[in-house]
Amino acid sequence: MVDLHNQYLQIQSEVDEAITKVINSCAFINGAEVKAFQNELSGYLGIDHVIACGNGTDALQIALMALDLKPGDEVITTPFTFVATAEVIALLGLKPVFVDIDPTSYNMDANKIAPLITSRTKCIIPVHLFGQCCDMEPILAVAEENGLFVVEDNAQSIGAYYTFSNGEKKMAGTMGDIGCTSFYPTKNLGAFGDGGALFTANDQLGKKITKIVNHGSSIKYYHDEIGVNSRLDSIQAAILRIKLRRLDAYNAARSKAASIYDDLLKSVDGVKIPKTMKFTTHVYHQYTICLDEGREEVQTALKEMGVSSMVYYPVPLHLQDAYKVYGYKKGDFPISEKLANQVLSLPMHTELTEEIQETIITKLKTILLKTYIS
Ligand SMILES: *Cc1c(COP(=O)(O)O)cnc(C)c1O
Repeated sequence: MVDLHNQYLQIQSEVDEAITKVINSCAFINGAEVKAFQNELSGYLGIDHVIACGNGTDALQIALMALDLKPGDEVITTPFTFVATAEVIALLGLKPVFVDIDPTSYNMDANKIAPLITSRTKCIIPVHLFGQCCDMEPILAVAEENGLFVVEDNAQSIGAYYTFSNGEKKMAGTMGDIGCTSFYPTKNLGAFGDGGALFTANDQLGKKITKIVNHGSSIKYYHDEIGVNSRLDSIQAAILRIKLRRLDAYNAARSKAASIYDDLLKSVDGVKIPKTMKFTTHVYHQYTICLDEGREEVQTALKEMGVSSMVYYPVPLHLQDAYKVYGYKKGDFPISEKLANQVLSLPMHTELTEEIQETIITKLKTILLKTYIS
């Protein structure tokens, strides 16, 4: 699905040198590399505050902690996402309220949010899934009308941007009150271990998040609030600085690979190729196709032919055992449920070649012919 080793080989001497430098400095935690990375990411995203933390799940949890939500408060999000998004809501004693997705973008359907709002609703978490932005203008409007916070889960779309109807462009993760991202190795900006960050334009939230990640403290051994221990280590920051300088090139390589897949697949019966919505760019964290039928058989056959593929995600969160307590049932979010049975993500990374892609699609076509004939 990914080729991290060949990507590393392209930047090996720079990375090895940076790691050695951190080791010799012995500033493993909160060293100069972390501060430099935060500043550089803040410049890249065009947002004042970037606070690094331990991973993307922590970033989401810390964002909700910073908003002072009370147990029982409701947070609206999508059931078609990685579990972390809903997990942090549940962990803090808040209630996840799911909203179905748009069948074309796989992202939350902004038009379905308003009817879900109650007096307990405090926050919306749009997830910019697979590499393109949610339709943020109507989401921000419904949040504003109802006094709700917006926390963006930008673990999959760093480097994508949204265009508002007045022509203004903003990077994914910088449109709501707080943006969260992950530097998990396979993400578009991936470390060589765990990492994450929060972004905000709000000075007060910036200060508060800076405290929460560090045990609720700004002066050593004085604790203003209950926090957590969540930090990015200096070695990861040093690696991320090198990769951030190449992020646009990495995302361009993903887009190029996506357009090659598009060309190879566009006239194949039974396959829907991903569509980029008009208001956003796409950084193809995943290249996810949708099969009319036979997804399981196709995936098994691909595996037998030596082609990896993945299903993101096979079970929408409202139907996961752990989330049954919230009372949802089959049929509540028909679009998410249908797509969970149809989506298939193909190998997508910065080191794909046209030859590899042609081989993958030739094999896929052979399998599809057999599946539909039998
Ligand atoms: C990867 C991911 C996360 C969690 O990030 P970690 O760094 O693995 O904790 C959260 N949300 C989404 C949508 C993700 O893809």
